[in-house]
Amino acid sequence: MKNTENPNFRQVGNKLLNWYKENARDLPFRQTKDPYKIWICEIVFQQTRINQGLGHYNNFIKRFPDVKTLAEAQEDEVLLYWKGLGYYSRAINIHKASQQIMNDYHGVFPHEYEEILKLKGVGKYTAAAVSSICFDGKMPAVDGNFYRVLSRVFADDFDISNSRAFNYFSELAHLVLPENVGDFNQAMMDLGSEICKPKNPFCNECPLNEDCLAFSMNKVSEFPVKTKKVKAQDLGLKYYFVHRNGDFLIQQRKDDFIWKKLFEFPPEISEELMPFIKSAKIVNHKLTHKNLSIEIFNVEVDSEIVWKDFIAKNDFIVINVEGFSRKIVPETFGKLY
Ligand code: SF4
Repeated sequence: MKNTENPNFRQVGNKLLNWYKENARDLPFRQTKDPYKIWICEIVFQQTRINQGLGHYNNFIKRFPDVKTLAEAQEDEVLLYWKGLGYYSRAINIHKASQQIMNDYHGVFPHEYEEILKLKGVGKYTAAAVSSICFDGKMPAVDGNFYRVLSRVFADDFDISNSRAFNYFSELAHLVLPENVGDFNQAMMDLGSEICKPKNPFCNECPLNEDCLAFSMNKVSEFPVKTKKVKAQDLGLKYYFVHRNGDFLIQQRKDDFIWKKLFEFPPEISEELMPFIKSAKIVNHKLTHKNLSIEIFNVEVDSEIVWKDFIAKNDFIVINVEGFSRKIVPETFGKLY
């Protein structure tokens, strides 16, 4: 239910802006309005905490300082610089989007929200953040921080797991938007991560505590309302760690399902290798919304003839531990062999 008891919506936005002027976090990407850098930072920090991702962000920007450099790079190198950040589809998408900018926009980053939204891998949140921070766009960058802060300030019980939550909270955000939407969006990011945290928010230090209905009713822990839990899917995988004298076999994944373009051990082997299976173990690993159970077979090929014959007949890469450490592999694979 949209709560209109608070008479002055606009005041909430302006108070947040005033707080931001004094308390904005000093982050390297706050010193620039370069849309390329803001875009990369928004993608990097979507799933990664600031202190965990900052080194990766700096390295990435150092190697790929602009759209052109990124567009001209090989995909494998882009993936390598993404190593440690996970969710590699994001790196594949920004590489493709950089080529889109070179081809469709003559190398100039698009200014309008609707145009930024056309870039590969860019969603409404990122398009709103880049357009507002760099080009004075007027769209709120609605994410989990907005859901949490707005639902608490207005004691609004709209279910954030509802498929209409994004539209609902976007509407609510428009009611509080001040003139400077770019700073407002960044202020909301900072308030959500530093003060109005999911658990144990620092309400006494919050610039909105006089306006916050959940706080005044002592019901902060009841907001936001979230009913639907996404049930994790169980998934069984099988791999063969086929090795001889310190060398082993890998291949690049073609499957779109998970770990696209990352390297993996052979998921199947032919009959002639079966006698060389020495042992097997099961490793469990959780991904977002997936519970993986991976059965890994240790295949030690004692016969040089069989080893060479198998390599000749199949399309695998022969690699050692050192070479493997330079490949992008799913995080789980460190536990497999
Ligand atoms: S008063 Fe507390 S609950 Fe309300 S917005 Fe501030 S930190 Fe969040």
